Amino acid sequence: MARNLNPKCRQCRREKEKLFLKGDKCFTEKCAIERRNYPPGQHGQKKTRMSDYAVQLREKQKIRRIYGLLEHQFRNVYKQADRQKGVTGENLLQLLEGRLDNVAYHMGFGASRSESRQIVRHNCILVNDKRVNIPSFQVSPGDKIEVAEHAKKYIRIKSSAEIAKKRNIPSWVEVDSDNLTGVYKSKPERGDLSSTINESLVIELYSK
Ligand code: SF4
Repeated sequence: MARNLNPKCRQCRREKEKLFLKGDKCFTEKCAIERRNYPPGQHGQKKTRMSDYAVQLREKQKIRRIYGLLEHQFRNVYKQADRQKGVTGENLLQLLEGRLDNVAYHMGFGASRSESRQIVRHNCILVNDKRVNIPSFQVSPGDKIEVAEHAKKYIRIKSSAEIAKKRNIPSWVEVDSDNLTGVYKSKPERGDLSSTINESLVIELYSK
């Protein structure tokens, strides 16, 4: 399966913001954003004025990178959000947040979204007691998410649960870190999600 192989810290530096793509390292002073908060490359430190299009494009790229999606995957999520009733931008964020890999990340079963995607693909996650190995699977409110019995002994998953304690567990998930199980209580409201994301710029970009 195709995936973004660009160095993760470089992706954060491109967006000039912490995207938390590397798990534990993101919370240390080794974080590249703490040391070099400017875009990578020869012209990274040059001051340039961004056009409206560039601002919209950068915001779209940022959101896409946070959730680890490729362009066609992200556009498909946007199309789905656009078909739904309600505010497209909010639908978009709810669909991204409701992905199984993202929910497993919030529950602390992976140190980062990419790690959590890997454990989903490796059959380590159960949804309502059934094995699901599709990272894009949409979790519904009330679904029980659990680490499969055979995987509960994996050191990587145990240490991820420890790292997750440094992050705030969002209010829309309930987690029992000792038993590596949790419940997706409800879809997040816009106010619960990151205020650094401006989804309306993505809508403007794709509506052209
Ligand atoms: Fe981004 Fe984490 Fe790398 Fe910092 S350590 S630049 S937050 S991926």
